[in-house]
Amino acid sequence: MARNSSLADTIQAWPKAELHLHLEGTMQPETVVELAARHGQRLTVEEVAARYAYRDFNGFIQSYIWVTSLLRRPEDYAFIARRHFEELRRLNVVYAEITLSVGVMVWREQDPGAIFAALHAAAEEAAQAGLRVQWVFDVVRQFGPEKAMDVARLAVPHREEGVVAFGMGGDELAVPAEEFRGVYDFIRSHGLHSLVHAGEIGGPDEVRRAVELLGAERIGHGIAAVADPAVMALLAERRIPLEICPTSNLRTGALERLRGEGSAGARAHPVAELFRAGVPVTLATDDPAMFQTDLDREYEAAAATGLDVRQLARINEAGFEAAFLPATEREILLERFREFLRAQGLVY
Ligand SMILES: [Zn+2]
Repeated sequence: MARNSSLADTIQAWPKAELHLHLEGTMQPETVVELAARHGQRLTVEEVAARYAYRDFNGFIQSYIWVTSLLRRPEDYAFIARRHFEELRRLNVVYAEITLSVGVMVWREQDPGAIFAALHAAAEEAAQAGLRVQWVFDVVRQFGPEKAMDVARLAVPHREEGVVAFGMGGDELAVPAEEFRGVYDFIRSHGLHSLVHAGEIGGPDEVRRAVELLGAERIGHGIAAVADPAVMALLAERRIPLEICPTSNLRTGALERLRGEGSAGARAHPVAELFRAGVPVTLATDDPAMFQTDLDREYEAAAATGLDVRQLARINEAGFEAAFLPATEREILLERFREFLRAQGLVY
């Protein structure tokens, strides 16, 4: 795709929100090499890049398990978080909700409380530098509802320290949504927000179940909704945003699965179709280092599907609107963005 530099420059300047970002997927090859060295393990950038080259969802999961095995101590997590905070500031991200694979920490018998304390300290520093960070505690769906409940209980005491939501990722076809109903009822009763990865490799019914059975307030990916007008209408009516990650969908094979073999390629992404159907959409990177992307490139990928700069501005605005922030803080961020639009002559 030819790079539209004026569009890219316009978007680069915008203050942005990023709502779907897994900390463990932010480690650039150079960072992985440094992290391994801290554990006395020698790796090269090329070796890491080879581990990050995969062709399907399973290959991605294997790579994810490998790279997270290098995260052993609280300071390892804080190290990679600080690295990525620098990157977010470079991209003019002013607000991020970062997902932590607490289900994986528990599986590895780590101490999520100690890890979170180190991350919280790093986030406080970032706030001083103009980047507001909040957190999502996330579970692996195929580990089942009991393990999910363990993580839900761990999330609740950290509400005052910026843990705003509970999420579920992993293999959405492995365990039916209804089995997690009790977990989501629990987290809601404790004032946490509900997030679910759905309609990534599963069909539109998975999106519907996430909303109707689990009370999801935003959906991770949700691209399969495009295959069912009734599901798109449900999302539009209830104002439930999809956190769309175009490059991730391309790299994991989720897009090809949705559109059929041979039809894939960034332009086949349904983000424009969903947007035009009135579904609230936001853009995010998912696992930027593992998918060799960044937030600006996700906006460019969305532009390649036919969205113009005003529509992209609306999507950026939707990112702030969908943030789990107090209303006054959300308004301040939105107003700051609108000032940029006025300065760029893009008021709509
Ligand atoms: Zn994700």
